[in-house]
Amino acid sequence: MEYLPVCLRLRDAPVALVGGGAVATRKARLLLRAGANLTVIAPDITEKLERLLGAAGGVWQQGRYREVDLHGKVLAVAATPDAQVNRQVHDDARALNLPVNVVDSPELCTFIFPSIVDRDPLLVAISSSGRSPVLARQLRRRLEATLPAAYGRLAEFAGRMRERVRGRITAEGPRRLFWEQVVDGPVAELVLAGREAEAETRLDEQLQDVEHLHRGEVYLVGAGPGDPDLMTFKALRLLQSADVVLYDRLVAPPIVEMARRDAERIYVGKRRAEHTLPQQQINELLLELARAGKRVVRLKGGDPFIFGRGGEEIDLLARHGIPFQVVPGITAASGAACYAGIPLTHRDYAQSVRFVAGYLKGNRLEHDWATFNNPTETLVFYMGLEGLPEICRQLQRHGRRPDTPAALVERGTLAGQRVLTGTLATLPAVVAAAGARAPTLIIVGDVVRLHADLAWFGKA
Ligand code: SAH
Repeated sequence: MEYLPVCLRLRDAPVALVGGGAVATRKARLLLRAGANLTVIAPDITEKLERLLGAAGGVWQQGRYREVDLHGKVLAVAATPDAQVNRQVHDDARALNLPVNVVDSPELCTFIFPSIVDRDPLLVAISSSGRSPVLARQLRRRLEATLPAAYGRLAEFAGRMRERVRGRITAEGPRRLFWEQVVDGPVAELVLAGREAEAETRLDEQLQDVEHLHRGEVYLVGAGPGDPDLMTFKALRLLQSADVVLYDRLVAPPIVEMARRDAERIYVGKRRAEHTLPQQQINELLLELARAGKRVVRLKGGDPFIFGRGGEEIDLLARHGIPFQVVPGITAASGAACYAGIPLTHRDYAQSVRFVAGYLKGNRLEHDWATFNNPTETLVFYMGLEGLPEICRQLQRHGRRPDTPAALVERGTLAGQRVLTGTLATLPAVVAAAGARAPTLIIVGDVVRLHADLAWFGKA
């Protein structure tokens, strides 16, 4: 970091501004707004600057700049068209250990003026460390557009309530959490709506209830493939600490049952073509609950980061500064393969394994099929029941032998698990005849041969 951003208190502080043109006028306006006791040193000044000084009680010291002009000052700004004068101001200020800014000459500055979004007393300062003022200004325009004008009022309100809150909540951590809920919650909404008296009442109510104060958190928890015994200790512990549990169809009911008795349980669906809550709404619901101070567990089937859209759900939380944790789970491929007696890798048959999305997009699967022709790689297709015929067709077309063993595992690790086996050429017909139902997993590769010997559970 080349510059440390600080907010300087200049009220009544003696400041020297050398120069009296348009640029100096802009700087003078800023310094006077901060309450500086300003002396402008220049032979001539603009009319505007003269008016500004008149209105704010600043002084115009008419004449050329001399070193003595900086004596007793706390800050110096040079904005003259004369490079020599500017340099002189810089050198003199450095000799006196004064912070100095020479407009448009970053190499002659010990401080720089950032672009600011002014919602006084709330200020946002943006600096590009002198590299690109244009970029900083553009960013400022964007922020201007997104920060409600009334934010200043909110900061003012918070300032007035500060002592009251400090008196009631003495520990720093809980106090911070309290304020986070205030500025993000109904109190802030009331202030922004101009209803400050009501906001104050509401804040007092919340102050009475600080025992229940805790910040919402979200745990994205992998619940494993179905059998409750395949959950991790951590998953169980967090599940039992949750105020609210969000779960979808892939999470077995006995797992949801392990939540605290008084926990709220919310079903958020997701079956193919039956999206009970669209993903965006799930993301928003998580955010909303966490903001209300809840400890939320979002249970995902298998592992949250394997075809689980877990990344999307925490992305929104991360952007809003909600604390979260992600807990891995046993993914369906591991669970189903183990319970079906199909090792996903094997010294003799498979040196790698690949997890593949098998759902159709408008009757097609968008994969680079040519890369699937390695006979020593096991393939596991998730969400592939409907696309099974197409998967088998494409694999054969791209170099996998028609007699490559293939299996479909239905309800892997759950009571009633079924394993249907065949080859790439025959599996679609086997599955159609058996009438399989989701959730299913398709495993392709020579390792499937081992099923006959190793399976001990739910053999087809
Ligand atoms: N995050 C999950 C996968 C979600 S995608 C995980 O890591 O396991 C949903 C797909 O997972 C289903 O369409 C199905 O292909 C597979 N799946 C999940 N549970 C399963 C189970 N018990 N048996 C077979 N397949 C399962």
